[in-house]
Amino acid sequence: LSDFKGSDELKDIIRLVISDTDKIKEQSEKLEEKLEESTIKIEGLQTNLNNARLESRTDALTNIGNRKFFEEKISEYMNNFEKIGHDLCLILCDIDYFKKFNDNFGHQIGDQVLKVVAHVIKKELGFMGSAARYGGEEFAILLPKAKLADGIKLAENIRSIISQRVIRNKTTRANFGRITMSFGVASIHRGLKAEDLIQRADSALYLSKSSGRNMVQSELELDQIVSGQNSISA
Ligand code: GH3
Ligand code: MG
Ligand code: MG
Repeated sequence: LSDFKGSDELKDIIRLVISDTDKIKEQSEKLEEKLEESTIKIEGLQTNLNNARLESRTDALTNIGNRKFFEEKISEYMNNFEKIGHDLCLILCDIDYFKKFNDNFGHQIGDQVLKVVAHVIKKELGFMGSAARYGGEEFAILLPKAKLADGIKLAENIRSIISQRVIRNKTTRANFGRITMSFGVASIHRGLKAEDLIQRADSALYLSKSSGRNMVQSELELDQIVSGQNSISA
Protein backbone atom coordinates (compact mmCIF):
# COMPACT_ATOMS: atom_id res chain seq x y z
CA LEU A 1 0.00 0.00 0.00
CA SER A 2 3.03 2.28 0.34
CA ASP A 3 3.06 2.54 -3.52
CA PHE A 4 -0.71 3.11 -3.63
CA LYS A 5 -1.52 5.46 -6.56
CA GLY A 6 -5.33 5.84 -6.53
CA SER A 7 -8.77 4.28 -6.52
CA ASP A 8 -8.35 2.42 -9.89
CA GLU A 9 -5.34 0.60 -8.58
CA LEU A 10 -7.22 -0.21 -5.37
CA LYS A 11 -10.08 -1.67 -7.45
CA ASP A 12 -7.57 -3.81 -9.40
CA ILE A 13 -6.05 -5.08 -6.17
CA ILE A 14 -9.46 -5.88 -4.71
CA ARG A 15 -10.48 -7.68 -7.93
CA LEU A 16 -7.30 -9.73 -7.77
CA VAL A 17 -7.89 -10.60 -4.12
CA ILE A 18 -11.52 -11.60 -4.83
CA SER A 19 -10.52 -13.74 -7.82
CA ASP A 20 -7.75 -15.46 -5.82
CA THR A 21 -10.14 -16.01 -2.89
CA ASP A 22 -12.70 -17.57 -5.28
CA LYS A 23 -10.02 -19.89 -6.67
CA ILE A 24 -8.94 -20.92 -3.17
CA LYS A 25 -12.60 -21.53 -2.20
CA GLU A 26 -13.16 -23.65 -5.30
CA GLN A 27 -10.01 -25.66 -4.61
CA SER A 28 -10.95 -26.24 -1.00
CA GLU A 29 -14.45 -27.37 -2.03
CA LYS A 30 -12.89 -29.84 -4.47
CA LEU A 31 -10.56 -31.09 -1.75
CA GLU A 32 -13.50 -31.51 0.60
CA GLU A 33 -15.36 -33.54 -2.05
CA LYS A 34 -12.29 -35.74 -2.57
CA LEU A 35 -11.92 -36.22 1.18
CA GLU A 36 -15.57 -37.30 1.41
CA GLU A 37 -15.06 -39.74 -1.48
CA SER A 38 -11.94 -41.15 0.21
CA THR A 39 -13.77 -41.52 3.53
CA ILE A 40 -16.55 -43.52 1.82
CA LYS A 41 -13.91 -45.67 0.06
CA ILE A 42 -12.08 -46.32 3.36
CA GLU A 43 -15.35 -47.30 5.06
CA GLY A 44 -16.05 -49.73 2.18
CA LEU A 45 -12.56 -51.23 2.47
CA GLN A 46 -12.97 -51.55 6.25
CA THR A 47 -16.28 -53.43 5.75
CA ASN A 48 -14.61 -55.72 3.16
CA LEU A 49 -11.72 -56.34 5.54
CA ASN A 50 -14.10 -57.18 8.40
CA ASN A 51 -16.07 -59.54 6.14
CA ALA A 52 -12.88 -61.24 4.91
CA ARG A 53 -11.69 -61.58 8.53
CA LEU A 54 -15.00 -63.16 9.52
CA GLU A 55 -15.01 -65.44 6.46
CA SER A 56 -11.45 -66.64 7.14
CA ARG A 57 -12.60 -67.74 10.59
CA THR A 58 -15.85 -69.40 9.49
CA ASP A 59 -16.31 -73.02 8.42
CA ALA A 60 -17.80 -72.92 4.91
CA LEU A 61 -20.03 -76.00 5.35
CA THR A 62 -21.51 -75.49 8.80
CA ASN A 63 -21.20 -71.71 9.08
CA ILE A 64 -19.78 -71.84 12.60
CA GLY A 65 -16.22 -70.94 13.60
CA ASN A 66 -13.33 -72.92 12.12
CA ARG A 67 -10.11 -74.20 13.72
CA LYS A 68 -8.43 -70.80 13.30
CA PHE A 69 -11.34 -69.13 15.14
CA PHE A 70 -11.03 -71.73 17.90
CA GLU A 71 -7.27 -71.13 18.29
CA GLU A 72 -7.83 -67.38 18.57
CA LYS A 73 -10.67 -67.72 21.07
CA ILE A 74 -8.90 -70.20 23.34
CA SER A 75 -5.84 -67.96 23.57
CA GLU A 76 -8.08 -64.93 24.28
CA TYR A 77 -9.91 -66.82 27.08
CA MET A 78 -6.64 -68.29 28.45
CA ASN A 79 -5.32 -64.75 28.64
CA ASN A 80 -8.40 -63.71 30.62
CA PHE A 81 -7.83 -66.65 32.96
CA GLU A 82 -4.15 -65.87 33.51
CA LYS A 83 -4.59 -62.08 33.85
CA ILE A 84 -8.03 -61.68 35.49
CA GLY A 85 -8.73 -65.17 36.82
CA HIS A 86 -11.83 -65.80 34.66
CA ASP A 87 -12.88 -69.46 34.51
CA LEU A 88 -12.92 -71.42 31.25
CA CYS A 89 -14.58 -74.66 30.26
CA LEU A 90 -14.01 -76.67 27.08
CA ILE A 91 -16.35 -79.22 25.51
CA LEU A 92 -15.10 -81.44 22.69
CA CYS A 93 -17.68 -83.58 20.92
CA ASP A 94 -17.61 -86.02 18.04
CA ILE A 95 -20.33 -87.73 15.99
CA ASP A 96 -20.54 -91.47 16.75
CA TYR A 97 -19.98 -93.99 13.94
CA PHE A 98 -20.12 -91.23 11.35
CA LYS A 99 -18.10 -93.21 8.84
CA LYS A 100 -20.84 -95.83 8.86
CA PHE A 101 -23.52 -93.14 8.40
CA ASN A 102 -21.66 -91.81 5.34
CA ASP A 103 -21.25 -95.33 4.00
CA ASN A 104 -24.99 -96.00 4.41
CA PHE A 105 -26.46 -92.74 3.13
CA GLY A 106 -23.66 -90.94 1.24
CA HIS A 107 -21.36 -88.06 1.95
CA GLN A 108 -23.91 -85.40 0.97
CA ILE A 109 -26.43 -86.54 3.58
CA GLY A 110 -23.47 -86.70 5.98
CA ASP A 111 -22.78 -83.03 5.21
CA GLN A 112 -26.40 -82.21 6.09
CA VAL A 113 -25.90 -83.94 9.45
CA LEU A 114 -22.85 -81.75 10.16
CA LYS A 115 -25.02 -78.70 9.45
CA VAL A 116 -27.75 -79.92 11.81
CA VAL A 117 -25.21 -80.57 14.57
CA ALA A 118 -23.64 -77.10 14.15
CA HIS A 119 -27.11 -75.53 14.21
CA VAL A 120 -28.08 -77.28 17.45
CA ILE A 121 -24.76 -76.36 19.12
CA LYS A 122 -25.10 -72.72 18.08
CA LYS A 123 -28.70 -72.52 19.25
CA GLU A 124 -28.08 -74.12 22.65
CA LEU A 125 -24.87 -72.16 23.25
CA GLY A 126 -26.45 -68.76 22.46
CA PHE A 127 -24.16 -65.96 23.61
CA MET A 128 -22.58 -68.01 26.41
CA GLY A 129 -19.37 -68.75 24.48
CA SER A 130 -17.78 -69.72 21.18
CA ALA A 131 -18.31 -72.82 19.05
CA ALA A 132 -16.13 -74.13 16.25
CA ARG A 133 -15.75 -77.09 13.93
CA TYR A 134 -12.56 -78.51 15.38
CA GLY A 135 -12.01 -81.24 12.79
CA GLY A 136 -14.00 -83.34 10.30
CA GLU A 137 -16.94 -84.43 12.52
CA GLU A 138 -15.63 -82.98 15.75
CA PHE A 139 -16.76 -79.74 17.36
CA ALA A 140 -15.35 -77.59 20.18
CA ILE A 141 -17.31 -75.35 22.51
CA LEU A 142 -15.54 -72.80 24.72
CA LEU A 143 -17.43 -71.46 27.72
CA PRO A 144 -15.68 -68.49 29.29
CA LYS A 145 -16.45 -67.66 32.93
CA ALA A 146 -18.09 -71.09 33.32
CA LYS A 147 -17.50 -73.85 35.85
CA LEU A 148 -17.12 -77.53 34.92
CA ALA A 149 -20.72 -78.19 36.02
CA ASP A 150 -22.02 -75.58 33.53
CA GLY A 151 -20.07 -77.27 30.73
CA ILE A 152 -21.37 -80.72 31.66
CA LYS A 153 -24.93 -79.37 31.76
CA LEU A 154 -24.66 -77.78 28.30
CA ALA A 155 -23.00 -80.89 26.85
CA GLU A 156 -25.74 -83.11 28.30
CA ASN A 157 -28.38 -80.79 26.85
CA ILE A 158 -26.84 -80.88 23.34
CA ARG A 159 -26.28 -84.65 23.54
CA SER A 160 -29.93 -85.23 24.43
CA ILE A 161 -31.31 -82.96 21.67
CA ILE A 162 -29.05 -84.51 18.98
CA SER A 163 -29.91 -88.07 20.00
CA GLN A 164 -33.63 -87.39 19.69
CA ARG A 165 -33.50 -85.56 16.37
CA VAL A 166 -34.62 -87.63 13.37
CA ILE A 167 -32.48 -86.80 10.35
CA ARG A 168 -34.73 -86.18 7.36
CA ASN A 169 -34.32 -85.01 3.80
CA LYS A 170 -35.88 -81.53 3.72
CA THR A 171 -37.69 -82.04 0.42
CA THR A 172 -38.42 -85.77 0.14
CA ARG A 173 -38.83 -86.19 3.95
CA ALA A 174 -36.84 -89.44 3.60
CA ASN A 175 -35.86 -90.72 7.04
CA PHE A 176 -32.17 -91.39 7.80
CA GLY A 177 -32.70 -92.32 11.42
CA ARG A 178 -30.84 -90.75 14.30
CA ILE A 179 -27.24 -90.04 15.12
CA THR A 180 -25.55 -89.72 18.50
CA MET A 181 -22.54 -87.82 19.77
CA SER A 182 -19.94 -88.34 22.48
CA PHE A 183 -18.67 -85.52 24.67
CA GLY A 184 -15.60 -84.69 26.77
CA VAL A 185 -15.60 -81.75 29.18
CA ALA A 186 -12.66 -80.13 31.00
CA SER A 187 -12.11 -76.89 32.90
CA ILE A 188 -9.13 -74.67 33.47
CA HIS A 189 -6.96 -74.91 36.58
CA ARG A 190 -3.83 -73.06 37.70
CA GLY A 191 -0.76 -74.35 35.92
CA LEU A 192 -2.65 -75.72 32.90
CA LYS A 193 -1.85 -74.43 29.43
CA ALA A 194 -4.29 -74.34 26.48
CA GLU A 195 -2.83 -77.60 25.13
CA ASP A 196 -3.35 -79.27 28.53
CA LEU A 197 -7.00 -78.17 28.62
CA ILE A 198 -7.55 -79.54 25.09
CA GLN A 199 -5.74 -82.75 26.04
CA ARG A 200 -7.97 -83.25 29.11
CA ALA A 201 -11.20 -82.62 27.15
CA ASP A 202 -9.95 -84.99 24.46
CA SER A 203 -9.18 -87.72 27.01
CA ALA A 204 -12.67 -87.29 28.49
CA LEU A 205 -14.13 -87.57 24.96
CA TYR A 206 -12.10 -90.72 24.39
CA LEU A 207 -13.49 -92.09 27.66
CA SER A 208 -17.05 -91.43 26.39
CA LYS A 209 -16.22 -93.32 23.19
CA SER A 210 -14.67 -96.25 25.00
CA SER A 211 -17.49 -96.39 27.56
CA GLY A 212 -20.20 -96.89 24.95
CA ARG A 213 -20.64 -93.52 23.12
CA ASN A 214 -23.72 -91.19 23.24
CA MET A 215 -22.55 -89.87 26.61
CA VAL A 216 -20.82 -87.01 28.41
CA GLN A 217 -17.66 -87.69 30.40
CA SER A 218 -15.52 -85.08 32.09
CA GLU A 219 -12.27 -84.59 33.93
CA LEU A 220 -14.10 -85.84 37.05
CA GLU A 221 -14.30 -89.36 35.64
CA LEU A 222 -10.72 -89.10 34.33
CA ASP A 223 -9.49 -88.13 37.81
CA GLN A 224 -11.47 -91.03 39.31
CA ILE A 225 -9.75 -93.45 36.95
CA VAL A 226 -6.32 -92.02 37.81
CA SER A 227 -6.98 -92.18 41.57
CA GLY A 228 -8.35 -95.75 41.13
CA GLN A 229 -5.18 -96.77 39.32
CA ASN A 230 -3.06 -95.15 42.06
CA SER A 231 -4.88 -97.02 44.80
CA ILE A 232 -4.42 -100.33 42.93
CA SER A 233 -0.70 -99.75 42.51
CA ALA A 234 -0.29 -98.45 46.10
P1 GH3 B 1 -16.35 -92.86 16.23
O1 GH3 B 1 -17.66 -93.17 16.86
O2 GH3 B 1 -15.23 -93.63 16.86
O3 GH3 B 1 -16.05 -91.41 16.19
O4 GH3 B 1 -16.44 -93.39 14.73
P2 GH3 B 1 -16.47 -92.55 13.39
O5 GH3 B 1 -16.84 -93.45 12.29
O6 GH3 B 1 -17.32 -91.35 13.58
O7 GH3 B 1 -14.97 -92.05 13.32
P3 GH3 B 1 -13.90 -92.18 12.17
O8 GH3 B 1 -12.76 -91.28 12.63
O9 GH3 B 1 -13.59 -93.61 11.89
O10 GH3 B 1 -14.58 -91.56 10.91
C1 GH3 B 1 -14.88 -90.23 10.80
C2 GH3 B 1 -15.75 -90.06 9.61
O11 GH3 B 1 -16.19 -88.70 9.50
C3 GH3 B 1 -15.07 -90.42 8.33
C4 GH3 B 1 -15.30 -89.23 7.44
O12 GH3 B 1 -15.78 -89.65 6.18
C5 GH3 B 1 -16.38 -88.45 8.13
N1 GH3 B 1 -16.25 -87.02 7.85
C6 GH3 B 1 -15.26 -86.18 8.25
N2 GH3 B 1 -15.47 -84.94 7.72
C7 GH3 B 1 -16.61 -85.02 6.97
C8 GH3 B 1 -17.33 -84.07 6.16
O13 GH3 B 1 -16.98 -82.91 6.01
N3 GH3 B 1 -18.48 -84.52 5.55
C9 GH3 B 1 -18.90 -85.81 5.69
N4 GH3 B 1 -20.03 -86.18 5.09
N5 GH3 B 1 -18.22 -86.73 6.42
C10 GH3 B 1 -17.10 -86.34 7.05
MG1 MG C 1 -16.73 -89.88 15.02
MG1 MG D 1 -13.51 -87.92 14.90
